[in-house]
Amino acid sequence: MADTPDEITLTAEEAASLRQGFRYCPRCGREMTDRLAYGRLRRVCSDSECRFVQFIDPKVGAAVLALSDDNRVLLVRRSADPARGTWCLPGGFMEIGETPQTTAIRECQEESGFTVEIAGLIDVYYYENYRGSGVLIVYHGRISGGAAQPNDDADAVALFGPDDLPPDIGFASNLDALARWREGRL
Ligand SMILES: [Zn+2]
Repeated sequence: MADTPDEITLTAEEAASLRQGFRYCPRCGREMTDRLAYGRLRRVCSDSECRFVQFIDPKVGAAVLALSDDNRVLLVRRSADPARGTWCLPGGFMEIGETPQTTAIRECQEESGFTVEIAGLIDVYYYENYRGSGVLIVYHGRISGGAAQPNDDADAVALFGPDDLPPDIGFASNLDALARWREGRL
């Protein structure tokens, strides 16, 4: 293979990506191999006609820091890993065809039972965990309707004032966004 050098030193990111690689080509069904493509080692189809390249990208998600009229924040308790049993902002992964704002609104409805209106962007966070890397877009918003109804990845829903947040909050991004709210920096 002309584009494969004799010796390859993987970066940590490449090694992590290849662990998630396809074994067989999803386009033609032939075996996938490790090969240099577009500047780094990737999973590439072994078929010389197909040459499908698997790009392992960060997952993109959205969450919302939703406030009630009496300035309490809506949190859900996670019923699944990662961070099972901790409290966090309602949120989840984007689906094709959604804007990140739509994702945040949908996930809030699914996990908490509350409808929310997006008011603005807090920040865009990058993270890495055992599942790979991801980008989380965190909005702030106002609760506009609905009632507490935990579902999906959540087994409890509650509103917390700025001085009575639960001690077990998951995810560095959530801690940062909540700190900004408490300090009046939204
Ligand atoms: Zn193929």
